[in-house]
This record gives sequence, structure tokens and C-alpha cells, in this order.
Amino acid sequence: MSAKDEALNEEAATSGKIYCANCVHCKLVREPLGGVRYSLRVRCDAGKWRKKLGEEKIYKYFTVARRSLDSCDAYEPMGDPKEFIKDLKKNLPIKDEIYTSRD
Ligand code: SF4
Repeated sequence: MSAKDEALNEEAATSGKIYCANCVHCKLVREPLGGVRYSLRVRCDAGKWRKKLGEEKIYKYFTVARRSLDSCDAYEPMGDPKEFIKDLKKNLPIKDEIYTSRD
């Protein structure tokens, strides 16, 4: 993420914008890649993320801090957005990672 993006996100965190990552409906899911490999995706289980034709939109996990809205009628915050996003950004991968599972 560029310094400009960081600055924009910090501004959003203090300007009352909603971060989907801080919402109970933002769910982390595994996208199977075959065998034991998978990648991480996020989805809105309130059904708010839609493509133009109505199909559900799923995002790569490492981009989740960018999902922000001015308002959402289904938003259910899980904590203080500013602190939450600050911690999340510290822990998010910087690109789409591939994971393996023994499950
Ligand atoms: S319910 Fe609204 S705020 Fe929550 S994850 Fe979905 S779109 Fe984002």
C-alpha cells in the first residue's frame, strides 16, 4: 500500500467511514486451490457485496482494509474502528498468499 493510500485510510478511519473488516458480517473464507492448497477470501454474509449483474462479489483477504463505505444498513461493528484497522493493517499479508492445510 502506498503512503498516499495509508493517508487516505487514516483519514477515513477518523471521518466516520465504515470499514467492512470491522463488521460482524465480513467473513474470512478459504478458496480451495486443489489438494491441500487454498487462498483466503472475504465475503459479506449480509449479501451486500454484489457485481453489476447481482452475483456475489468476493475479495482477496489482503485487500480487506480497503473495503469501506459511507454507510451500510447491516453494519454491526466489532470494536473501535480506528484501533481495529490499525491492528489489522499490521497483520494483513501484503499480497495474495497460498496456504496449505492438512485437514
Ligand atoms: S454488512 Fe455492510 S458493513 Fe458489514 S461487511 Fe457487509 S457491506 Fe460491509
